[in-house]
Amino acid sequence: MKRPWAAVALLVAAISVLYRLPANGGPEWTVLADPVFPASVQLLPAHCGEPVTKDMKAFGERMLDCLASVWGPVVQQTDGLVMRRPDVVVYWTAEIPTRCGVVRDTTAYYCGAGAEVIYLSGPAFRRLFSAWPADSRSYATLVLAHEYGHHLQNQLGIMKVSTTRQSRLSGAAAEEESRRRELQASCWAAAFLGADRVALGPGFASRWRSLLSRTGDLPGTPRLHGSVASNRYWAQLGFADARPGSCRTFTATRAMVE
Ligand SMILES: [Zn+2]
Repeated sequence: MKRPWAAVALLVAAISVLYRLPANGGPEWTVLADPVFPASVQLLPAHCGEPVTKDMKAFGERMLDCLASVWGPVVQQTDGLVMRRPDVVVYWTAEIPTRCGVVRDTTAYYCGAGAEVIYLSGPAFRRLFSAWPADSRSYATLVLAHEYGHHLQNQLGIMKVSTTRQSRLSGAAAEEESRRRELQASCWAAAFLGADRVALGPGFASRWRSLLSRTGDLPGTPRLHGSVASNRYWAQLGFADARPGSCRTFTATRAMVE
């Protein structure tokens, strides 16, 4: 049976503006080597489950309530930061100008430059909800949790260092940097979902694993998000015990972020 996810899942993207940073080795760069979250930190359940709406603005806002309730206290305790709330913008055009550049045909996109915004494609989600109503809510839940992972990276200073480093690399090395960032966001998303597994219900885990089996860079496309195997590895790691400190993709070996 033909499913829409394979291509859609690959379009989850995040770009931030490039910042002025000293050459590799300055104190700003240690953020990528830090565990960020201590191993002892385990996320508490949000008691939210999947929002029951096809209105993606309402879906996104509900998810932000849930995500903030879990991540806010953790970030404040571990890093002393107060999490800001990103905006949710649902766009219905083929492309939309953002502070991170023009976004085209992208299901979900986080821009952390200035105003922090999660962009969601109205037509893409409408098609998904029409064709696969049950699975689509799980997919949308997963997408919002992933984009919030980028928001965490943005507030914690990871985004600017990683995107700057990527801009100074080229070819396979630049793509590897992107994968480390994307896989960390997915791992953190999975930790959030794993903590809330009771509210998400018994069917969620199987739908989530099915989505994972189709989430990865397609052959012939830039290797920016990671292979199916890498996505599955980091997602399962995060989901298993809801410990975001396990998501150390920036210090993992290259083979673990293929
Ligand atoms: Zn992403």
